[in-house]
Amino acid sequence: MKRLLIKNGTIVTLGDPNRVLTRHAVLIEDGRVKAILPQESAQKVKAQTIDAGGKVVLPGFINCHMHFYSTFARGLSGVAPAASFPDKLRNLWWRLDRLLSPEMCYYSALAAGLEAIRHGTTTIIDHHSSPGAVRGSLGRIADAVRQLGLRACLCYEVSDRNGPGIAREGIRENLRFLEECRQADDNRLMALFGSHASFTLEEGTLRRCAQYARKYEAGFHIHCAEGKSDQSASLLRFGKRVVPRLAEHGILGPRTICAHAVHLQNREWDLLAKTGTAVVHNPQSNSNNGVGVMDLLKASQRGVLVGLGTDAMTLNMLEELRSAIWTQRLFHRNPDVAFSEATGLLMKNNREICNRYFQRVGQLKEGWEADLICIDYFPPTPMDKENFPGHMVSGLSQAPVDTTIVGGKVLMKKKKVLVLDEEKTDRDAQRSSSKLWRRFKSRSGLNR
Ligand SMILES: [Zn+2]
Repeated sequence: MKRLLIKNGTIVTLGDPNRVLTRHAVLIEDGRVKAILPQESAQKVKAQTIDAGGKVVLPGFINCHMHFYSTFARGLSGVAPAASFPDKLRNLWWRLDRLLSPEMCYYSALAAGLEAIRHGTTTIIDHHSSPGAVRGSLGRIADAVRQLGLRACLCYEVSDRNGPGIAREGIRENLRFLEECRQADDNRLMALFGSHASFTLEEGTLRRCAQYARKYEAGFHIHCAEGKSDQSASLLRFGKRVVPRLAEHGILGPRTICAHAVHLQNREWDLLAKTGTAVVHNPQSNSNNGVGVMDLLKASQRGVLVGLGTDAMTLNMLEELRSAIWTQRLFHRNPDVAFSEATGLLMKNNREICNRYFQRVGQLKEGWEADLICIDYFPPTPMDKENFPGHMVSGLSQAPVDTTIVGGKVLMKKKKVLVLDEEKTDRDAQRSSSKLWRRFKSRSGLNR
């Protein structure tokens, strides 16, 4: 029996209701939370200890939409300018992803995962694409996730944009990984059936995806109405808008994640609410791509479960949360809206989405997975359960994560990652990304 005691901290449970407990301890046994105790009672407990004095202890964050491989686009030059979001996809992302090798999939996941640990993000729902190296790509990402000790839910994005052969390979890669996860039955690694977006999926491909996914009772992870062009292409080619189209194919449902949902009509929101489909909001990415702002207030009012993702813009969920608040306020031109809706995404909804795939992840509660982080933060103003969200947005978001623990395993302590050699990992990732950049510059972009 392995016991670990996180003592002397301010514990924030992020449960229902959220509790903020000063001078408390979390006892971890065999990877799960065994008890949350007042400091005095914790004195008698015999266990290995971590002192969380001057720190806030809370559950590790969950990122509900991510692309590990996008990490390798950081600092890339020589990308042809884009006048629109579809241009950006063609000039950058669809050129870059084609050139990824299995090794690059592995190292980009390793580099991104390292940053996740540093920022206290412990569960990641990823959406992967490497059309030139489909087969086995999810296995390589899973290797990185295992090595890092994180939790991840993976999928391969099926698309017809590289031809029907690659689309079929994508389907096979999803099935292979779904089967692997079913057999492993490991709460660290889960699978969804990935698909890119309505506008790059032909009718036959969508139909096949739905058929196969049904066999595994798998949900989908798909981009939905991220740009206006997804809606116009859907209307032009298939005679219907994106959400009804996905609904007709049986893609929607409580196990499915629709990322972005920027350009939806009311009846599409209602369809997502009725089917229990989760939507994931990625405000920084939407701003960066200039595609528009998802109306979080409307989505919440219409009863849609909305979570928060970063779309690879960052691994820091508190940074993304701040962006969610600011963009809603700009969008609604109102300085007083969206605080509770936005903080609710991270404090509650991401947990709910995550537990559609994993079990007992995302709050500090007896019997739940011991995924927790300690942040250096001694509040300069009173902090309690009522005003904790304010401290989270304005204070914790500016403070360094000191310790990251997943399933009772300490991945980072005193800001040092313990599970692998940080410098070596980043050096290896640099070598791998340089190779990718050489391919990118010789085969595409401005030099073409
Ligand atoms: Zn995305």
